[in-house]
Amino acid sequence: MKLVFATNNTHKLSEVRQILGDNFEVVSLEDIGCNTDIPETSSTLEGNALQKARYVKEHFGLDCFADDTGLEVAILDGAPGVFTARYAETEGWGREHDSAANVDCLLHKMENKSDRRARFRTVIALIYNGKEHLFEGIVEGLITTNRQGTDGFGYDPIFQPEGCEGTFAEMGPEAKNAVSHRGRAIRRLAQFLKDKS
Ligand code: IMP
Repeated sequence: MKLVFATNNTHKLSEVRQILGDNFEVVSLEDIGCNTDIPETSSTLEGNALQKARYVKEHFGLDCFADDTGLEVAILDGAPGVFTARYAETEGWGREHDSAANVDCLLHKMENKSDRRARFRTVIALIYNGKEHLFEGIVEGLITTNRQGTDGFGYDPIFQPEGCEGTFAEMGPEAKNAVSHRGRAIRRLAQFLKDKS
């Protein structure tokens, strides 16, 4: 089965391909010739994921799925949340989609904070045979006090999932997929697609 994943993020594409396996051919926005930076203007993860999936369906007529992820920090009242990708920019710390600046910004906000609980939440919007479906995946964890590890992307070096020794950036991709927010959401998506096929 061929499905468009509305992203060009190579890390995410390989995570998703690894979980969905050989039964699904997952193609990227670039693969379908979509070079637009699809707007994400909703105030919720669900809204943004749907916005991206609907864009692909409307402009390319293809079944597809899109994700949106937020890092929700307890002591920051759930921030950065829907602003996770542009946290540094919204806080005046740097440019949009600058991971290093985002991490610096969050570490600064968390300086001297003893409650370091946080969670990643992913929402996937799927458009399948013209119908919309939502899937959620959550991983609870802690924000570390400094960067640890070099694998992965984004906030991986400062997020330690519950029950694990190190950060996401210290785990291989398979170990990360087994517990991650996106891994959980994708497995729900995969189960749904398996049941339908
Ligand atoms: P997106 O919605 O997947 O683009 O993610 C929004 C923000 O969350 C981006 O800044 C990503 O770097 C960050 N993010 C999403 N997933 C992960 C992850 O698995 N590890 C670390 N950061 C992530």
